[in-house]
Amino acid sequence: MFGDTFETIEDQLNPQITTYETRMARNCADQMELPELERIKHFAGLKNQGATCYLNSLIQSYYMCPEFRKVILQLPLCKETIEDSANLAQNESRNRFLLEFQKLFIQLQDLQSKATSTEALTSSFGWNDGQQMWQQDVSDANKVLFETLDRSLYGTPYVIAPFYKGVVFHHITCLNCNNSHGNEEIIYDLNIQVEGNKNISEGLFGYINPFLLDGNNQYFCEICGMKVDALKGDKIRKLPPILTITLNRYTFDFEKMQRIKLNDRFEFPLELEMGIYLENPVDNLIYELQGIIIHRGNAHGGHYFAYFRDLLDEGDWQSHIAEYWQEKEDIKQQKKNVDEVDYDEVQLPFEITNPKVAQGWYNFNDSSVIPIPVNKIQQQYQGSESAYILIYRDRNLIPSKLSSEQIPKYLYDYVNQLNQKILKERLEYEEAKKHIIITVTDSSVVDLTNHKLLDEKYDKITYKLKLSSTVSELYSQINKHEYQLLEFQENYQTKLLHFPRYLSNLNSTLEEEKVGHQSTWVLIKKDLDIPQVGLQKVPYKLNLIINNKPQAFLLYTSTTLLELKQLVFALTGLNETEQELRNVQNQKIISDLSNETQLGELQLTLETQILVKKKAQVQNVSKNDNKNEKDQNQQVGDDIVSIIAEKEDQVGVSKFYVNINQTVQELIEFLKEQFGINDICRLRNLNGSILFCKSDLPIQLKEFQDFREGGARLQLEKGEVPETGKISLIIKYKEQNLEIHVNPKLDKIESIKIESCKQFNVEPTQHKLYKVDWLQVPSEGLSDENKTITQCYLRDRDLLILCDKSAQIDCELIRFQIYSTITGYPDDCVFQRHEAMRKDATLKDLKQMIISTFELNIDIDHLRVRDINKNRFFGQVFRKLDLPLQKYQFSTNDIVYQVLTKPENLQDDEMLLLIKERDPINRIYKQQQEFIFKVSKTPTLKELKEQIQVFVGIDKETQIELAKFVFYEFQWLHINPNIISKQLQGKGKQGNKQGNQNNKQGKNNQQQQQQQQQQQQSACENLKKNPINLGEGDFIGFRLGNYPKDDFQTKEDNDLRERMIAARKNKHNALGPIKRQQEVGFVVDIE
Ligand SMILES: [Zn+2]
Repeated sequence: MFGDTFETIEDQLNPQITTYETRMARNCADQMELPELERIKHFAGLKNQGATCYLNSLIQSYYMCPEFRKVILQLPLCKETIEDSANLAQNESRNRFLLEFQKLFIQLQDLQSKATSTEALTSSFGWNDGQQMWQQDVSDANKVLFETLDRSLYGTPYVIAPFYKGVVFHHITCLNCNNSHGNEEIIYDLNIQVEGNKNISEGLFGYINPFLLDGNNQYFCEICGMKVDALKGDKIRKLPPILTITLNRYTFDFEKMQRIKLNDRFEFPLELEMGIYLENPVDNLIYELQGIIIHRGNAHGGHYFAYFRDLLDEGDWQSHIAEYWQEKEDIKQQKKNVDEVDYDEVQLPFEITNPKVAQGWYNFNDSSVIPIPVNKIQQQYQGSESAYILIYRDRNLIPSKLSSEQIPKYLYDYVNQLNQKILKERLEYEEAKKHIIITVTDSSVVDLTNHKLLDEKYDKITYKLKLSSTVSELYSQINKHEYQLLEFQENYQTKLLHFPRYLSNLNSTLEEEKVGHQSTWVLIKKDLDIPQVGLQKVPYKLNLIINNKPQAFLLYTSTTLLELKQLVFALTGLNETEQELRNVQNQKIISDLSNETQLGELQLTLETQILVKKKAQVQNVSKNDNKNEKDQNQQVGDDIVSIIAEKEDQVGVSKFYVNINQTVQELIEFLKEQFGINDICRLRNLNGSILFCKSDLPIQLKEFQDFREGGARLQLEKGEVPETGKISLIIKYKEQNLEIHVNPKLDKIESIKIESCKQFNVEPTQHKLYKVDWLQVPSEGLSDENKTITQCYLRDRDLLILCDKSAQIDCELIRFQIYSTITGYPDDCVFQRHEAMRKDATLKDLKQMIISTFELNIDIDHLRVRDINKNRFFGQVFRKLDLPLQKYQFSTNDIVYQVLTKPENLQDDEMLLLIKERDPINRIYKQQQEFIFKVSKTPTLKELKEQIQVFVGIDKETQIELAKFVFYEFQWLHINPNIISKQLQGKGKQGNKQGNQNNKQGKNNQQQQQQQQQQQQSACENLKKNPINLGEGDFIGFRLGNYPKDDFQTKEDNDLRERMIAARKNKHNALGPIKRQQEVGFVVDIE
């Protein structure tokens, strides 16, 4: 409707010369914001706000759910007006969150607009920048939203979450005593694996089928008191009336350490029998498909859209779907080569009993909502565009519509007000579309002959006119009858005026005459004869080089070659057939083209120069023509060779014949003349890219092998000929280039820098030179300025960039993702922002940046900054304030900061550990706390035990056992001399031998035995080394008392370990590590 508002007049001007795009506004509306588009079909779309990814689909799924919509729309959140909050929810921010939902829903229902915006809603729960959205999974977002709604509505008679809330029971069943252990979990979706399953039935069975824990994975049954074979799995205890099923198409490739998306076919029906999957199966529990959220893309990004069924018959699908088929028929006739399967025509592979489930389907794709046939659903069974979330409804849940009386009056007032505003904007826009504004000036400000504007700030009168008024009405308004209007446009590059036309058809309307909005016109006396008026007659300055002197002439794109030749004749006396006109820019000879060729047809730019010469009868034979004709002929055979030469920075090569008895200097002069260059030039042999240096200049060409053989490829460049043995480097500073010649083996970076700084008049100590990459962007700082050119691997003609030392140059920066934590444990780690710091900035700078960026208002010693390792746990605490960042080892460039309640000053010999006490009876840990381990040169188990004993306040006699948690294995490694010695025995036979010797020597030599035991341990008793590898941030479990059977594992560790092992075996997906990553940075700001 509002498309094609701009008409390009580019075609009317000459595209070669006026390379810019000229767009002319057609009417006053062109500068106005477009009014909201009208809603054509029933459902409104949601505007795409850039980073909102799946949110639009999720919100539409809520709106299209009658139960959800009903609750939201009838909430009495305000009193009389929407400004007057009734505070239904427990606090203000919850109330605001609910109100934004309500406002959005009433807009979706009644706003007279094709699409509406979710911005206010997303910002009401703090997802305004989309940052959080990217980090979380749609199923997590769903859960957080429902939990937030649940809390917001707590204590009111309104409920939403129960419609979506199911219960599963995670269990482990001992195969020895048949007892089950486990816990219930409230779920908002069933997460079904696509991998290995070909439809939803297989997926659901996969979900409830337990797997066997045996062998190494045996389960410790507390009733049996031993490790036993057991079954582990999930049971569906309760299904919600609205069932969300997430199809997990993601799997983790452990070899490549990345997430991949599976495009395998996975079928799901319109009607789904769910009773058989329950813990206590029931008959006839039918669920009907109502929605599909679709993801198009790969594991790292893409687009979401959705199909929903209109349960309330609001959309008049029956009549709209007929239009769909009709439109499709039209498109089909236009293009016939459709190879893809058209699923619209294919019957679904499932029988249905309720015909309603096959009707009322719409495709909601951001702002667009269109009806679709149900068969299209199959398109989402497979591929990179495929179903991601399925929404099923219990057949017994009967949807009902909210009557308008149930919706609070303030909501209608609100949306009516919005509608009035939209209507007003539309009317204003429609009115503006009927008008234009033009500018009229008198001829005194325009130099009509030279196409110049005499005064930039000329007097002008503007007229606002109806497009439907006639030209004659315009003239009577201007009221100067002996004048007529001539349109003019200024080319901003050439500053020349183009006069496209007179406005003379008195009876036409301005619209018919295509008079542009904001066009400019000059009043010209009717009898005045103006040269060069016409759409094609764009004035243009062409440079002719005659006798090495460039001269500019005003010509037009409509000027023909013949007219140009006549001009050249007038200037040089060369008649048309004798002229050789060469476009210096591309070396093309234009004089041979047809005489009718217009300049506009040639590829001329503002820089184009035309070299004018007398046509040579014989092709460029070189000099030495003072010899007689016979000699010359011989020379053509013996001494004349061909060369191929080109000009620097220009496309196209020319072939010349030259005498190899001439010197390099003479060849340079010859080529300069041929190319029409006056500047100082030098010559490069492109074979090897070698510049001829000063000592080469007097040497004859025949001394160089490349010339003797003929066909040498040369390039003529502007610039000084370098001294012998030197190469040239280009130094760029801001937009200026400087060339310097340097001796690669002798000259150092420092001297080059000093020299260039002198030339650019800047202070050397404040600047630094950088190498560039192929995009000519600084890629490596030349920090060691004592190195020579050769040592820096710089070659002839390399570009270096001179930059201010403090400049933010990419290659000098480290990019961080900054997270925050309050507790110091990864559980509450939240992404904050991206930040870049210079590599030479210190840790102190980094901390100060964090303090000021996040307005922390604390002293620097209250801020702890530490590494996040690739398993998402917290590692090294950065402690040396003066150390530049480039000296630190960052595992991931993810760092986390924590505000401490008291100052911290960790020393090099102090290691921050997390210790927690093991409860071996309940197989859990309690009282996690930070512990600073004073590390000796070779820290031992004994030292660690003693320090922990002191820290937790127990005496030395109490038995204490320690274990270290190995993150990525989900396994506690018992730190125990036996393990250590076992490790040692496994490594080599040395330990064994010593052991045998000890036995032979008997018990009486106890002292010696102890000594040898110590030796045996010393090789690995250093906790920082294998096999313990103690490091900062490690979790240390300690157990008091004697429980030799306890393995330090928790149930959760075992679960995660199983999943990890399973994933490694490539049987199951690695949910554990991925889930952990997804949960990072996931919050809703409502509390
Ligand atoms: Zn048992």
